[in-house]
Amino acid sequence: MKDVAAMISQASRVWVVSHVLPDGDALGSSLGLMHLLAAQGKQVRLFSAGPIPEEYLFLPGMDRVSDVLPEAGEMDLAVMLDCHQPERTGPVSAKFLAQLPRVAIIDHHQGEVEFGQAAWVDPSFAATSEMVTILAQSEGWSIPPQAATCLFVGVQTDTGSFRYANTTPRVFRVAADLAEAGAEVWPISQEVYATRPKRLRLLGRIMDNLELSQEGRLALSQITLADLEKVGAGPADLEQAVETLRLIPGVEVSALFRQNAKGAIKVSMRSRGKVDVSRVAIDLGGGGHKGAAGVTMEGNLEGVRRDIATRLRQGLEALA
Ligand code: 5GP
Ligand code: MN
Repeated sequence: MKDVAAMISQASRVWVVSHVLPDGDALGSSLGLMHLLAAQGKQVRLFSAGPIPEEYLFLPGMDRVSDVLPEAGEMDLAVMLDCHQPERTGPVSAKFLAQLPRVAIIDHHQGEVEFGQAAWVDPSFAATSEMVTILAQSEGWSIPPQAATCLFVGVQTDTGSFRYANTTPRVFRVAADLAEAGAEVWPISQEVYATRPKRLRLLGRIMDNLELSQEGRLALSQITLADLEKVGAGPADLEQAVETLRLIPGVEVSALFRQNAKGAIKVSMRSRGKVDVSRVAIDLGGGGHKGAAGVTMEGNLEGVRRDIATRLRQGLEALA
């Protein structure tokens, strides 16, 4: 953490970047860091390859997020958040990152770090936003209310609203500190957990496509481009839907397969905790955490589904 903090302190022009299909933590930690650094008079630019889920458009500073790269030489430092592989940020930004003299990483995902000049990667944290908050506190940075709001959303969403196994006492302390610094829970929750009819219809499609096997311990489902089109939804509408499969009583491991516009299949896996789904994801070139991991694979839906189902079945059989 100290190396990353020193690198940030020395920079006056900072480029903040996180992963594609950004979630609440990717956006919350990026925007949170932007507000923290802007309060110190630093010049900050934010990049996201998108698409941005609607529930995060309210975040203060969202209008500053851009999918346009800066000119080379315009930035002193890139800070990569909520991921540690440049390819995770998108093809355009990965190329750009590789040319930069200084990249610092803050992330809570599993896996080897082979990139960057300073990296603070620690899977014991529930969220990158939790890490950014602790960084700010240990460096004595002031936390403006806008930063607190963004960081709170990151912690809130990556813990499933303080429900998942990663919800430690430290998470509650950080959340309390952010609430004290100006994050307003009820206004935030109304945005983040707004009822969106098209999402519920999508959930209906997911339940229609549900396949339970392994005595009900494995749940698989899928969403095709046609399903998305039918309900008028896009890829960013699936973020919260994935969680519902894992919580079907008796289900230990779940996976949702979705076709993307490029014809590849995005796989989202969830586990209640006994099977480490990040192993399956990392083996296939993806990543994540023990209980939530993902990978994007070339191939048709049936083939990818069969391959992943076999690996998850093996994970379940190894438990017995
Ligand atoms: P989700 O299924 O919600 O997209 O992602 C679950 C977890 O796995 C998140 O922590 C996410 O960052 C990670 N993840 C999802 N897809 C990929 C991927 O293609 N590559 C890597 N490295 N991580 C992924
Ligand atoms: Mn995260």
